[in-house]
Parts: sequence; C-alpha cells; structure tokens
Amino acid sequence: MGQITLQGVTKRFGEIEVIPPLDLTIEDGEFVVFVGPSGCGKSTLLRLIAGLEDVSDGRILIDGQDATEASPAKRGLAMVFQSYALYPHMSVRKNIAFPMKMAGVPKAEQDRRIEAAAKALNLTNYLDRRPGQLSGGQRQRVAIGRAIVREPAAFLFDEPLSNLDAALRVGMRLEISELHNRLKTTMIYVTHDQVEAMTMADKIVVLQAGRIEQVGSPLDLYHSPRNVFVAGFIGSPR
Ligand code: ADP
Ligand code: MG
Repeated sequence: MGQITLQGVTKRFGEIEVIPPLDLTIEDGEFVVFVGPSGCGKSTLLRLIAGLEDVSDGRILIDGQDATEASPAKRGLAMVFQSYALYPHMSVRKNIAFPMKMAGVPKAEQDRRIEAAAKALNLTNYLDRRPGQLSGGQRQRVAIGRAIVREPAAFLFDEPLSNLDAALRVGMRLEISELHNRLKTTMIYVTHDQVEAMTMADKIVVLQAGRIEQVGSPLDLYHSPRNVFVAGFIGSPR
C-alpha cells in the first residue's frame, strides 16, 4: 500500500509546458524528496499526484491501479502544506478530527486515532487549544496529525518547514524522519533545501524546469552527480 507510479505525466498551463513527460516510480514505504530551485515544478508535481491538479497527459498509478481520474479523496493520500491550513475557530482536537468526520469514521475510532496521533506528536496537552494559541512548530504538528489520522497510503509534504525558524526546522526534520521510521508509510517530501534532502531522503529526485535531472540515494548523488547542475545543487565537490 503506497506505491506510486507516474507514466508520461505531463502538465501544461495554457501554452506553457511546466512538466514535460515524466516517468517515476516511488516504492511503498520509501521516503522520497523532490528537490530543485523555486519554480521548477515541485508543487505542481505533488498536486498532480494528490489529484488537486489534472494531468495534461500521462497516467498516475497508485498500487498498480489507475488513479489518473480519481478524486483527491479516493486516492487515499494526505497532503501537508507549509501554511498549516488549520481552522482557527476550532480546537486542535476538532481540527484533527475534521477529515475523519468528513469520511464518516465512527466517533470511538476517531477518538482512538486522535489520542494515538497526539501521543506520537507530543500534542496530548494541547488538544483543547485553538491554533492561535500554539507555536509554529506545534501548528505544523497539528497539520501532520490531521494527515496521520486519515491513515493515508502516502503523505505528501510541500515545504512543510519553510515557515519555521532554523532551530525549529532541525527538530521537526527529526520528528518527521522518526514518524516515517515508525509508520513506514510512503512519504514524498518537497523542499528547495539541500540539507533537508540529504538528511531525510531514501531517494532524492532532482528537478530542473520540470525535468528529472537525476534520481538516487543521497550518497549516489553526492559521489556521482550526473551533471554540473546536480553537483551544484547537492553541494558535492565535482
Ligand atoms: P515550485 O513548487 O518548484 O516552486 P511550482 O510547481 O509552484 O514550482 O511552479 C512551476 C511553474 O508552473 C512556475 O513557472 C509557475 O509559475 C507555474 N505555475 C504553477 N501553477 C500555475 C498555475 N495555476 N497557472 C499557471 N502557471 C502555474
Ligand atoms: Mg512550491
């Protein structure tokens, strides 16, 4: 549960081809980082996978099933954004419960999943607060909690830490890595930060202008960058 395959996935906005035909397979349980400069198409690619944007051409398979036309809800993936997108008037508990309520999860099961997520994310003492009463890091944890309780086939993170200060970013990076170790769920993590990519990824996908420049483990890319762009981006000595 959680293999994602892109076959010739293409995205045009009007005349402009933002993603030329792209092939990529993400294996179940992998932590894959999409890295590349601002404007290279990282968010667009994530939104195509999530179903928030329609592909212009190509197919998206989830666990071998064609999901190209499936609604975001049907795909069973959970997206976490940099701008938490929490409901300010609702408590943390209600924010986390919201997607389960929409999906018709029974109340007792909702409570069980909320308690488990709160424990995993150190939010147990904050469940009755509102987002405005939390720090940036805590808000980001609530956003992650809201994704966890959906028990998704994969998590899609779009620069989730870019609004946090440097010290907090390091801590949250570790928390997300630990979460992946614990859940072993596929995670796709978008960042323009090389350090995040190198420290978190099983597999890094380096993008430039919507094209894949190289796919490999952090060590592969560091020791054998395919070209100057990858070398420059990863910071290897070539
Ligand atoms: P990144 O997340 O890597 O910074 P994006 O995926 O946001 O890049 O954007 C890739 C390119 O697609 C950019 O040139 C951007 O201007 C363009 N783009 C993104 N969304 C739209 C849209 N809805 N309409 C037109 N162009 C878009
Ligand atoms: Mg982006």
